[in-house]
Amino acid sequence: MHSIAIDGPAGAGKSTLARRLAKELGYIYVDTGAMYRAIGLYALRAGADPADRAAVEPMLPEISLRLENQAGEQKIFLNGEDVSAAIRAEQVGMAASAVAAIPAVRAFLLELQRGMARAQNVLMDGRDIGTVILPDASVKIFLTASPEARARRRWLENQAKGIEEAYETVLEDVKKRDYQDSHRAAAPLRQAEDAVRVDTSELDFEQSFEALKKIVAEKLG
Ligand code: C5P
Repeated sequence: MHSIAIDGPAGAGKSTLARRLAKELGYIYVDTGAMYRAIGLYALRAGADPADRAAVEPMLPEISLRLENQAGEQKIFLNGEDVSAAIRAEQVGMAASAVAAIPAVRAFLLELQRGMARAQNVLMDGRDIGTVILPDASVKIFLTASPEARARRRWLENQAKGIEEAYETVLEDVKKRDYQDSHRAAAPLRQAEDAVRVDTSELDFEQSFEALKKIVAEKLG
């Protein structure tokens, strides 16, 4: 089995690039952020503070997650309910980042994620894939961009969706989530020593995609 690990901060273009690359290679795309988001959503719906370990931990045995590929799209089911759209709310992103700091949550998802990589060729994206989940991945990429470039992309996406939010607010959110993700004790966001770093601040989608393809071709031969 081959696995490709793509890690990096929110908004570097990871999921769009990863999805397309997986499709081209015929690998199963696994969006691990969606799993943290689903747990964040579960906690929010239960009225719990997603940062409250004592409240979130006992919920884990109640949670069953399933990923399904439907016509090339990854769908995520939380206890049988398709929450693929619901988990995309900004508030759920923040909740995901909070539950992701809880070691029991990470342990819960670690087995699930490793199991997926054992069963098939996967391209997995997240924050700790190259460092913790798949330390022996065939290819490791750390995809990043400046906070300003990432905020600008998110702002443009929001505009396209009709969501009015000031650029400054988006930038603040990006910085806050970066801080939360890279300063937590459990599996903080960091580049694996053997990962290839790609900075997409000055690259458009096609250029970023070509950069990733080149790395994969060099590593997989
Ligand atoms: O990538 P996405 O924005 O969907 O991830 C949501 C949150 O889940 C991130 O901010 C991060 O805190 C957490 N996460 C993580 N480890 C991963 C994937 C996501 O901690 N492998």
